[in-house]
Amino acid sequence: MTEEKLTSKDYVSSLKPIWCPGCGDYGVLNAMALALEELGRPTENIAVISGIGCSSRLPGYLNIYGFNAIHGRAIPIACGLKIARPDLEVIAVSGDGDCFSIGGGHLPHVVRRNVDIACFVMDNQIYGLTKGQASPTTPRGDITSTSRYGNLDRPIWPLRFMLGYGTTFVAQATPLDIKHLAKMMVAAILHPGFAFLNILSPCVTYRGKEMYQFIRERMYYVDETPDYDPADDQKAWRLISNKDRFSLGIIYQKLSKTYREKLDEVEERARGGKISSLADERKLFLP
Ligand code: SF4
Repeated sequence: MTEEKLTSKDYVSSLKPIWCPGCGDYGVLNAMALALEELGRPTENIAVISGIGCSSRLPGYLNIYGFNAIHGRAIPIACGLKIARPDLEVIAVSGDGDCFSIGGGHLPHVVRRNVDIACFVMDNQIYGLTKGQASPTTPRGDITSTSRYGNLDRPIWPLRFMLGYGTTFVAQATPLDIKHLAKMMVAAILHPGFAFLNILSPCVTYRGKEMYQFIRERMYYVDETPDYDPADDQKAWRLISNKDRFSLGIIYQKLSKTYREKLDEVEERARGGKISSLADERKLFLP
């Protein structure tokens, strides 16, 4: 008997989202369901790990394995799971505050290890759940609940930030185009190695409904750029250095050994030598 193909509805849980009406995260959830339908993996073979924040509610709204971790810790938990269970598709979901501030220290390390997980950041340029404090991506000068006279801090640019670390897959999308967002999610999940997807997801409550228009007026698709080449990091750097527009699509992609491949090599080397017993293997790691 052939198994019936799952549809996007099968990947969504019965829990009703409690995001504010108009929040961009609804579109992210819809795109995620479409992406999971496209991948067609059984629900028990996918796990979504989140931190804390509005966006980190996502695992509860999906009918797959999920874990709502503590603030900023989605990535290390996702890495541990992927290393222990390489057969699973593991996705870390986070917000701009959760990922770039509290969890920011994990980013260079997951990149240099190239653990085969995807990371989706719902970037709304604010801490929404805790009532509108300035986040690492809040533009300079913006009024927030912690910057009543304008934000003093220079914001980070997620794409440049991650490209600078040497991430092997860097992409950007927005729920303003759900089909494209779903396509980018699929590409990120299928990428062998650490894949970073920045999602411009408006917070209507603390950034205003105008964010939709602001993004719409500035977004463009990188694959419509004449000399677009996602394998060229210099071109990618130039492409995303224009502050007046939002690049959508795969900005940069290259293949590099994953952490699992490196682990397998070490194991093979250890087993292929004169080492014959577990006690001998352990000696390898003694000082
Ligand atoms: Fe969405 Fe902002 Fe409401 Fe949070 S506070 S649910 S990010 S609109």
